[in-house]
Amino acid sequence: MFGALQPIHWLIILVVLVLVLGPGRLQGLGRSLGQSWRALSGGFREGAREASPPALPARACVRCGVWSGDMASYCTRCGAPLP
Ligand SMILES: [Zn+2]
Repeated sequence: MFGALQPIHWLIILVVLVLVLGPGRLQGLGRSLGQSWRALSGGFREGAREASPPALPARACVRCGVWSGDMASYCTRCGAPLP
């Protein structure tokens, strides 16, 4: 059924598309698809760069890694002085 699409079937579909739409329109369609894909993947890369958090928060304990909040001077779990 749907999984049995052989390469020759895709070729036939492509030929039919070229005949129906014309080579110029298909070229334009491919170009605009490529441009959208490039813009999309570029946006994803930019979003991933912005979303990556630092490995540890600035006020996390160096000994146990527990986050103690902005105003704490000592770790709430082990009592070690915070950086
Ligand atoms: Zn600690």
